[in-house]
Amino acid sequence: MRAVLFSEFGERPELADVPEPECPPRGAVIRVRATGVCRSDWHGWMGHDDTISLPHVPGHEFAGEIAELGSEIDSDSGWAVGDRVTAPFICACGRCSECLSGNEQVCDAQSQPGFTHWGSFAEYVVVDEAELNLIRLPDALGFVEAASLGCRFATAYRAIISRSRLAPGEKIAVHGCGGVGLSAIMIAVAAGVTVYGVDVSDAALDAAEKLGAVPVRGGEGAAERILAASGGGVDVSVDAFGSSETAFASVQSLKKRGRHVQIGLMVGTSALAAMPMDAVIAGELEILGSHGMAAHEYPSMLGAVAEEFFRPIELVGRRISLDEVPDALAAMGTAGAAGSGMTVVEL
Ligand SMILES: [Zn+2]
Ligand SMILES: [Zn+2]
Repeated sequence: MRAVLFSEFGERPELADVPEPECPPRGAVIRVRATGVCRSDWHGWMGHDDTISLPHVPGHEFAGEIAELGSEIDSDSGWAVGDRVTAPFICACGRCSECLSGNEQVCDAQSQPGFTHWGSFAEYVVVDEAELNLIRLPDALGFVEAASLGCRFATAYRAIISRSRLAPGEKIAVHGCGGVGLSAIMIAVAAGVTVYGVDVSDAALDAAEKLGAVPVRGGEGAAERILAASGGGVDVSVDAFGSSETAFASVQSLKKRGRHVQIGLMVGTSALAAMPMDAVIAGELEILGSHGMAAHEYPSMLGAVAEEFFRPIELVGRRISLDEVPDALAAMGTAGAAGSGMTVVEL
């Protein structure tokens, strides 16, 4: 099969001919029809993720059709070859204590296509524990739209709807208006609250404003500008970029008893980011993490999309082919990518 492969971290990936994956007994092989290009793929390529072993095929936001089911999957499982499916980017084991409590998004033994094994920048990708992790696509949802939901939109959906406990009449700031940030803005605007979109890029601010957010210039002084615009701080603030600076500014944007939700990945020097803990205690602030979304939470999101409660397809900027992935991946490392929408590969 054709796949985008890299043999060294940071070295340009190549389109290569590689063997088709073998189907695990409880897994499935998916014929990839669409797959998103995400900053996490770029982090993986740069060597920021220690679960990757070389050579490697990235790609973790996909939709496609079941090509093969594992030998241990019963015919009465409800799944069949040809079914249109997606999967969370964190595939769960189904047996650890987190899975048993319904928190598959933080599974102790998770597998991640594009990280722990070869991913979806290829014609075929393996999903482990298929009966737990496969998600059926509503007929109304195309492959490109479904792939665009798999990582950034699902992460934003759970962060806003579930983790932040955003309530009617509240105000929210979203720091970083890239893929996950614009998704968060779309979801918060649909919830009917006041949304501030914060970014250093004019294109990103324009995109945020088009979705219904109040644009706020990012960088030095961003928190002060939100405090001024919101009349003393927001109830919820999200760091959708993932850096020491944006996380700090997000917490500083909160009013008392506000909730910060970290959804941008914190890698490298940002992993140990400083926090204004004096404000956390004095204002009883909450600092929350949000990490993907479990398969069982997808139907409510997919239903809302199918009913056009929000339209994530509007967040898709460019549709490319597999051989354009190396360039698209390299572009992820530059700030100029902000505001131009998600890039989705069609196969
Ligand atoms: Zn992603
Ligand atoms: Zn588990």
